[in-house]
Amino acid sequence: MSTERTFSIVKPDATRRNLTGKVIDRLESAGLRVIAQKRIWMSTKQAEAFYAVHKARPFFHDLVKFMTSGPVVVQVLEGANAVAKNREIMGATDPAKAAPGTIRKDFAESIEANSVHGSDSAENAAAEIKFFFADTEIVG
Ligand code: ADP
Ligand code: MG
Repeated sequence: MSTERTFSIVKPDATRRNLTGKVIDRLESAGLRVIAQKRIWMSTKQAEAFYAVHKARPFFHDLVKFMTSGPVVVQVLEGANAVAKNREIMGATDPAKAAPGTIRKDFAESIEANSVHGSDSAENAAAEIKFFFADTEIVG
């Protein structure tokens, strides 16, 4: 088990319903530590760049609209196997397929408005952290 960092977003559907604290509690209770955090409102340009890997997907335009529909909380999480652990706590992309007790099963509204983002690899985590945070903002 190695200590890792991953990148997480509390998405607009969760901030809108005042679930920010509940979502973060799930992450902290599972042993992940928030070492950087800010509440922002993403611009269309930012959301398009962040989700560039999905540019060709039919849901891309709606996804960008959704991610810019309200504030989000971007954060860096640290812990043992943080990338995989965060994905496990989040649950499957589609809440209908998410395991019981996961964030998406308990909070998500739909496959799009699914409450949280989490990096899918250590490599992508590093790139996503860099996209939103300066080194000086990662304070432990
Ligand atoms: P994950 O967030 O689980 O890594 P993806 O990287 O595949 O999932 O997709 C990124 C985001 O795009 C999802 O979290 C969700 O908000 C949205 N999304 C994925 N698939 C669909 C879909 N079929 N229809 C609408 N939105 C989708
Ligand atoms: Mg993904």
